[in-house]
Amino acid sequence: MHKLARLDHAHVWHPFTQMRDWLRREPIVITAGQGAVLRDVRGREYLDANSSIWTNLHGHNHPKLNAALKRQLGKIAHSSALGFANEPASLLAAKLVRLANAECETRNAESGAPARAAIPHSASRTPHLNKVFFSDDGSTAMEVALKLAYEFTRRTRGPKTKPRFLSLAGAYHGDTVGAVSLGHIDLFHKAYGGLLFKTDQVMSPYCYRCPFNRAKPERADAREYRQCNWECVGKVEAKCAAARKRGNDYAAFVFEPLVQGAAGMIPQPAGWLKRVTDIARGHGALLVADEVMTGFGRTGAGEKVGKRESGKGSPAHQPTFPPAHFLTGSASAGVQPDFLALAKGLTGGYLPMAATLTTQAVFDAFLGEYEEFKTFFHGHSYTGNQLGAAAGLASLELLTGKASIAARVRLEEDLRAELQSLWSLPNVGDARQVGLVAGVELVRDWRTREPFALRERAGIRVCEAMARRGVLTRPIGNVVVLMPPYCTTRVQVRRMVGALREAVGEVLGR
Ligand code: PMP
Repeated sequence: MHKLARLDHAHVWHPFTQMRDWLRREPIVITAGQGAVLRDVRGREYLDANSSIWTNLHGHNHPKLNAALKRQLGKIAHSSALGFANEPASLLAAKLVRLANAECETRNAESGAPARAAIPHSASRTPHLNKVFFSDDGSTAMEVALKLAYEFTRRTRGPKTKPRFLSLAGAYHGDTVGAVSLGHIDLFHKAYGGLLFKTDQVMSPYCYRCPFNRAKPERADAREYRQCNWECVGKVEAKCAAARKRGNDYAAFVFEPLVQGAAGMIPQPAGWLKRVTDIARGHGALLVADEVMTGFGRTGAGEKVGKRESGKGSPAHQPTFPPAHFLTGSASAGVQPDFLALAKGLTGGYLPMAATLTTQAVFDAFLGEYEEFKTFFHGHSYTGNQLGAAAGLASLELLTGKASIAARVRLEEDLRAELQSLWSLPNVGDARQVGLVAGVELVRDWRTREPFALRERAGIRVCEAMARRGVLTRPIGNVVVLMPPYCTTRVQVRRMVGALREAVGEVLGR
């Protein structure tokens, strides 16, 4: 065993990992990366098929990001945001605000919705995101949104209010205790039940396994052939109505736009997000968009997949905007939240940094004389870190450039084309794609949708077989994730999907 692997085995405890399994074999020790390729300590090369757990955007070792970091290092790596402002954090906040609002206003202009200025503030459908609170990762970005929404609700509805939150079945919003409280994945969250506060959950639109979907399985993304009456939307309406009846409207509705990641790459049919957020907002809830995974162009051209034929229950909403135009899933669905949580790709996948964007109205609720103690008492040592912010600025410049937009359009098409080859495998039940994100759900037999038991480790074994073929990704249960960096070439996409196809054949063997 390589000496670095030995040291890892001796001392490192890995996240979300059964360490008994880990200790059974020599780990891959990554030493270098270039574009979509990772190299290990033994000189072997792998394709990074999940963008290093959904963080990397432009590829590893990118010259522009490297140069931006070196420039910043020549000045200062870090000074505290407690007491001081700094150059890159100020610039990044301004840029994030500009992008977050421009996106939604463009979308609304295209859909004919009234511009923000034409709507009275209290009824505003497109809140202006004006303030940025920096933190360190996705969990803390969500923790900030949660605390702000909680306190804003108490300050606007009265101190006796007990703010309650509504989030989606299968929700995952991070691992800090507040974020876990918003989550609804028993496997991850149940153990901490005693530490958590209660939140409500509502059905999410998992068309492939939806009890209301009357369609027999087909060889296509389940959203296309589903037969239903949007019962999932009705469930949100019912939850909000019940909260109103209890005299306590939800303080906030918390969601991942367009695709729920850790739930198993569960994609939302076109039109769902707009409908349910309109309902929640109509019942007085703030909207909290967790774009930790979906942000920064990951959802590509956005809401594309609805039902094939029009008719009862088919969404009217189909996008007309240019593909890959939008950097957030909410913007491409025409939804402007009151809180926008960003992390992972914020620095292009280089450094841990996060941001929670919110409105002037929320900010103003925390203003007061010092001795009123209305301050937002929250923050971290590395809040507004200069290196992270410098990487973020360079990443945004790349993202909004023509070359990156064209690469994302191409990658989305390549991925779509290559995924078609998986339908010939009887163990592929659903292959779903949202922009540059794909989830392939493995089943015993596509005709019955029968799942593998978790203890069979079907997803893990398939990913291990992919690694032997030089492609690295991590499954979510029985769902294999493909989420390549934006620089991934057509040949590399073909190798990723090819490795998955072969691995399914080898491991599940039908
Ligand atoms: N929200 C979502 C949607 C995520 O996918 C994740 C991480 N997978 C988080 C929050 C938490 O982010 P982090 O791991 O950076 O704390």
